Amino acid sequence: MTKTMFLPLLLLLLLSAAAASTSVSTECTVSTMDDYPVPVRREVYGDGRIFDISHRYTMDMPSWERKDGLGRFLWLPASMKNGSLANNSLMKLPTHSGTHVDAPGHMIDRYFDAGFDVDTLDLEVLNGPALLVDVPRDSNITAKVMESRLMFKSEYDSSYVGFTTDGARWLVKNTDIKLVVSTDCTVSAARDNPVPVRREVYGDGRIFDISHRYTVDMPSWGSKDGLGQFLWLPSSMKNGSRSNNSLMKLQSVHSGTHVDAPGHMVDSYFDAGFDVDTLDLDVLNGPALLVDVPRDSNITAKVMESLNIPKGVRREFDSSYAGFTTDGARWLAKNTDIKLVGIDFLSAACYDHSEIILVEGLKLDNVPVGIYNVHCLPLRLLGSEGSPIRCILIK
Ligand SMILES: [Zn+2]
Ligand SMILES: [Zn+2]
Repeated sequence: MTKTMFLPLLLLLLLSAAAASTSVSTECTVSTMDDYPVPVRREVYGDGRIFDISHRYTMDMPSWERKDGLGRFLWLPASMKNGSLANNSLMKLPTHSGTHVDAPGHMIDRYFDAGFDVDTLDLEVLNGPALLVDVPRDSNITAKVMESRLMFKSEYDSSYVGFTTDGARWLVKNTDIKLVVSTDCTVSAARDNPVPVRREVYGDGRIFDISHRYTVDMPSWGSKDGLGQFLWLPSSMKNGSRSNNSLMKLQSVHSGTHVDAPGHMVDSYFDAGFDVDTLDLDVLNGPALLVDVPRDSNITAKVMESLNIPKGVRREFDSSYAGFTTDGARWLAKNTDIKLVGIDFLSAACYDHSEIILVEGLKLDNVPVGIYNVHCLPLRLLGSEGSPIRCILIK
């Protein structure tokens, strides 16, 4: 597929200003499960092309300063069995649990005070070519160990050991590496007078962040006032801890930019275990078409038909601030090859969730319509019918 074949389509999709709507649709009919599908849990997707190198969240997974592991991280305050319209999970996590990233403010308090949080991390560093190396497992990652490896711009260590200070310093001094992944925390090198940068576009305009920043007033399913407080600092360097350690709690996993699992709207899928950990990463990552749909109506079958989305398009993102109607969603499932839909609206959408993955609450303003590579990665929340998701579009 070339970009030119979409040109007539793109010209038809005129942008019009519209106020963000945070309303939540309440009516939905979803087809029930005919046979009894079984969820699949994978570590490798796309015929061996995609490796999931994040851990599934479990109660006994390692968590910072917790001897017994993470503990319970998921609750179901609203469930279909209790008469709710949908299943709606609550999650609570110390942020340094399982697979996670450190911001400069974790170990260096003046960076914390200056606002170097995870939202200031450079997505261009976090996404791109990387080298996976194996280091000896019987020692920490010292300068000597680092020196013995071939180094690249990003580097991942498979070792079950942590960096020593001299190992980390050697890395900063002797390589171009800006991203390090290991099983233990690394030491950040401090600079003078730090000022954090918040961006929506990274890598010289190549990478668009289409996820919303979490704020207390962002839309959240089932809450009129928005998400509310989502972050606490139970241990801080100012209180004598050796690092800053945040605790996050999302009253609903359907807050801001997130993905629905089949178990959100269909209880039989919930019972069968179709949680976010069973979503296909091959569907959530790959070429995608961003279109703009009229902002004065919901996304009906007629609207979908008018977009003339070519066969073969598997991932489609709508910039519209509107929700799908049932007939719009059905039309899509029946008449296109689309398996991933992303919308900037937050709604209880009317999908047969077994067919199509729905990402809601995207931030698609100011992103030109066209073809991109999308990368959408949910958290591996075992048992959760929804998850926060970080989605980016790469030109
Ligand atoms: Zn950490
Ligand atoms: Zn949702």
